[in-house]
Amino acid sequence: MKTAAIEPFFATLAAANPEPKTELEYGSPFELLAAVLLSAQATDLSVNKATRGLFAVANTPQAILDLGQGRLEEFIKTIGLYRSKAKHLIEACRMLVEQHGGEVPRLREELEALPGVGRKTANVVLNVAFGEPTMAVDTHIFRVGNRTGLAPGKTPLDVEMKLMKRVPPPYRLHAHHWLILHGRYVCVARTPKCWQCAVAAYCDYKPKTPAPKSA
Ligand code: SF4
Repeated sequence: MKTAAIEPFFATLAAANPEPKTELEYGSPFELLAAVLLSAQATDLSVNKATRGLFAVANTPQAILDLGQGRLEEFIKTIGLYRSKAKHLIEACRMLVEQHGGEVPRLREELEALPGVGRKTANVVLNVAFGEPTMAVDTHIFRVGNRTGLAPGKTPLDVEMKLMKRVPPPYRLHAHHWLILHGRYVCVARTPKCWQCAVAAYCDYKPKTPAPKSA
């Protein structure tokens, strides 16, 4: 993607959705951290269903520790990989209580030191809970970054670094949400819906998918 196309690319996505939000439900930095931790390889919808019940009963690190792993598993057993996620969440809660006074830290290194928290989860928490302009590269952003030529890279970290360099500052806070939503609903994995894409004029992908005959 040419540098000159990047500004209008984001301006177009921003105009359609000025304040994009995560689809995960949360009411505090800790609830967000827990929801993101539970969301690996699961849909946001399935996580929301489970966390609604869980957070009504326990929504702080201490409360989840008090619940214990067995009862925590009961709340989240509809989510894939729930046993290892429960284990990680309990261990993370213990560290939050013992080392951070029960609060979610704002430093990347401290977030990434929590069990089950990798770079992507830390980026989501830093961005959504604390307003930092980070790029949490998931499968959608990885694909959209490469396909459009906006941020080509062989690894999620390559794509993240390219985005940090190429996304104009006014769009950095919300860029990852716009790219996720674009990838989830328009620039989808198997056949991108180029015929209904608002940013097709700025995207390098060729040939563009034509409209289906019946449409
Ligand atoms: S034109 Fe097609 S490939 Fe490019 S961003 Fe839009 S949907 Fe994706």
